[in-house]
Amino acid sequence: MAERVILEVENLETRLGGERRLLGRARPPVRAVAGVSLALRENEILGIVGESGCGKSTLGRTILGIQRETAGSIRLDGRTVSGLGPREARRARRDIQYLHQDAAAALDPWWSIGRSLEEALVISGVGPRAERRARIDRMLAAVGLEPALRRRYPHELSGGQLRRVTLARVLVLAPRVVILDEPTSGLDLSVQATVLGLIRALLTEFRLTYLFISHDLSVVRQMCDRVAIMYLGRIVELADTRRLFEAPAHPYTRMLLMAAPRLATGQDLGALPIHGEPPSPTAVPSGCAFRTRCPYTVARCAEARPELEPVVAGREVACHRWRDLGEAAVASAS
Ligand code: SF4
Repeated sequence: MAERVILEVENLETRLGGERRLLGRARPPVRAVAGVSLALRENEILGIVGESGCGKSTLGRTILGIQRETAGSIRLDGRTVSGLGPREARRARRDIQYLHQDAAAALDPWWSIGRSLEEALVISGVGPRAERRARIDRMLAAVGLEPALRRRYPHELSGGQLRRVTLARVLVLAPRVVILDEPTSGLDLSVQATVLGLIRALLTEFRLTYLFISHDLSVVRQMCDRVAIMYLGRIVELADTRRLFEAPAHPYTRMLLMAAPRLATGQDLGALPIHGEPPSPTAVPSGCAFRTRCPYTVARCAEARPELEPVVAGREVACHRWRDLGEAAVASAS
């Protein structure tokens, strides 16, 4: 795996809500992304995992440029592409594309597949028409679809075909980084396996880099080189996939793995109970945001927020007590 960093995010923060509404009170502002730093290496698959509402999709949309960051920086290939207005942000981040989790919603039901794909190229200023057509046919072939499918409409296609079309629509724009948001949601298991195989093959063929957003740990384990675990807008653990699944260091990671019975970890996680729901993002606890659900919380956890820090090679953790909870297991998985 290449080590060259293609995308770098530093202390990224995205606030949502807080706008005044015509009637009623303003929605309270929420820090959906609350100081995320990560570096995406060229040609890798970095998984972003967390429960619904943890901020993973907002992180993806902020990196893409359709959601404006409120603090922090984003660098693409060493160039700063943050701090721009919406139009400039998308232009500067053209090399980043987004695969929508709802394939049907990503396509206009009244447009043929060919028109949907061509429109993406027209908006990006690719021409003339013959060149656009040739590019579309090449991409349809790359995702395993016949060129004749250009004349069909979304309602005539299966879920697997729709997912292939949306992949072609993203790839036709020749991106370098693709944000895949729950790319297998709504697909049955056999189609899911085919789509994941295709996503991996395209990574190699077009030398892409993926940010792979998912709540499905078994898919993440199968696909990703590294995994970042998010909780209430922050990354609480970042590690190579094998190490993370063999010996999760953060109590929240351990809890997620315990809640996924299909996963066998190399570590005895004990009977770690699952404590309730995440707190509201409008009332994040002081200190460690996970302390209201963590069975290992101590007084210090309420007083100081643990920062994400390197603990062993290839692993960063944000927990005051990671050593007490399994330093030996974490070290042996290194
Ligand atoms: S810092 Fe404290 S509350 Fe937070 S995960 Fe670690 S032990 Fe649990």
